[in-house]
Amino acid sequence: MASETAPPSRAAPRKLTGKKQEIDDFIDQFDTFLFDCDGVLWQGDVLLPKVVETLEMLRSRGKKLVFVTNNSTKSREKYSKKFEKFGIPVKVDEIFGSAYSTAVAISRVYQIPKGKRVFVIGEEGIEEELDAEGIPHFGGTQPLGFPDDEVAEHCGPDPTVWAVVTGLDRKINYAKLAMAFGFLQDPEVHFFATNFDSTFPTHGKLLPGAGSCSAPLTFMTGRGPTTFGKPSQAMMESIERKYTLDKSKACMVGDRLNTDIKFGIKGGLKGTLAVLTGVSKEHEILEAGEAGEGPDVYLDCLGDLLG
Ligand code: PLP
Ligand code: CA
Repeated sequence: MASETAPPSRAAPRKLTGKKQEIDDFIDQFDTFLFDCDGVLWQGDVLLPKVVETLEMLRSRGKKLVFVTNNSTKSREKYSKKFEKFGIPVKVDEIFGSAYSTAVAISRVYQIPKGKRVFVIGEEGIEEELDAEGIPHFGGTQPLGFPDDEVAEHCGPDPTVWAVVTGLDRKINYAKLAMAFGFLQDPEVHFFATNFDSTFPTHGKLLPGAGSCSAPLTFMTGRGPTTFGKPSQAMMESIERKYTLDKSKACMVGDRLNTDIKFGIKGGLKGTLAVLTGVSKEHEILEAGEAGEGPDVYLDCLGDLLG
């Protein structure tokens, strides 16, 4: 059956062969590289081969590096310690996390009114980024302050609550969900999610991601959250506010098609590069290419950029 829409005009993803001239030509198109972190630079607690050398090579060629992660469990400050541990030089300002992107959107774009606060389903990363932006919050890692069997007495609309923010919360429970549900029944209360990753990889397995913490609330309320991590362009906007980003000279490097590569394509970046050290597999990259949703190029691992 003939398709009603025009076929996508993006070329099929091409695997770089690693020849010096080809790699040089690829790198020379860009002045900025946006890097996803987990699955590109490292896998959990394991640094991937030749990452330090590759980033060093790019910096020595005058490239601007930006690190863009959907991991909301750590603030940018804490994430910079992870880079340090791996021997990767980085400035906190070069890191953009989904918790940071959410906090700056709340304070600078939405401008939370004085006297209002947000209820958090999430971990320290969100709390620390909200603190850094001066946004009052409760919930999160703090005890709710009542026994679990009194939940019905403590949930319901609250005029001081301006938004519910969700991210990955490895201690999510019924009481937190019930409170968030109560607040969200007021249509004026915003429903925000740091990111919508269905899963995240750890120790060679996939675990439920931040999307699985907001999804029950969508089921209860029929409302979908506004998200601020990749592929949301709110993340791109927070990068653009910090840097003079010339999208016609920027490349997004990632391991996941529906977050990183989509982020780069949606954002109109000049290039997208996928690596096979994370979530998306080669056959998925090629299939995505057929739908016009694949990266421009891909490599087995980031270290192959050394040629
Ligand atoms: N969410 C969580 C909770 C994670 O731990 C991770 C990876 O560590 C991610 C998302 C994905 O992060 P990235 O965007 O750096 O791949
Ligand atoms: Ca990743």
